[in-house]
Amino acid sequence: MNDLASRLRLFDRALAELRAASTLLAGVPESMRALHDEYSAERAALETLAEASREAAVARRDADGAVADAQEKLKKFQQQVSRVRNQREYGAILSEIDQAKSGLKTLDEAALAALERAESLARELDERRSAFADLEARYSAELARWEAEKPSVAAKVAGLERDLESLRGELPKPVIAQFLRIVERYHGVAMARLDRTERPGGGAIWHCGCCNYQIRPQVAVEIRTKGTIVQCDNCRRFLFAEGEG
Ligand SMILES: [Zn+2]
Repeated sequence: MNDLASRLRLFDRALAELRAASTLLAGVPESMRALHDEYSAERAALETLAEASREAAVARRDADGAVADAQEKLKKFQQQVSRVRNQREYGAILSEIDQAKSGLKTLDEAALAALERAESLARELDERRSAFADLEARYSAELARWEAEKPSVAAKVAGLERDLESLRGELPKPVIAQFLRIVERYHGVAMARLDRTERPGGGAIWHCGCCNYQIRPQVAVEIRTKGTIVQCDNCRRFLFAEGEG
């Protein structure tokens, strides 16, 4: 494991592990993914419901206020009845009273509807909050367990970063630079196994395990016996021989 290809393979693995560990640290473990998604969705739904409930409570207060204003207005018209001076004024005030009464009826109905909506939403919110308590308790327990695990994952990340740093020192800079570009291009898969296919007539051909591009026999020998760093001419991935661990 002293040749360059082997070191590059170690670098590749450490890099992959580092990416996985860093992703894990930034999120949640796969084992609690389903619970995390369920918890997040229910919490978001509860927030939406709580907002609707708050809005319904405001609408209810507004509707009650409108009823109170209309009642006040009606009362004033009714008080004016005793002060009318003639038939014409009397007719006018009666018409005002009729209008006020019919307006009040509409507002009363709206207030009742607002009351029912506010109460029904408040009830639903209460019920879902109680049901959520259990989910929240399970989620908190899982989260606490994960929080306790995090320092060891963080330590692993630090260790991998040190490994990568020392491997960097053992590999030519241009190789590292090129390797990281290929990692970027292929979303992490920068190495391809050197594959061998037996030919029916005897002999074998070598090819890139990722794109199948044929590798010249003498190049395959270099990779297998000397651990030379070679890129596939087609996909540019770095080739490694089976058995390199
Ligand atoms: Zn290839």
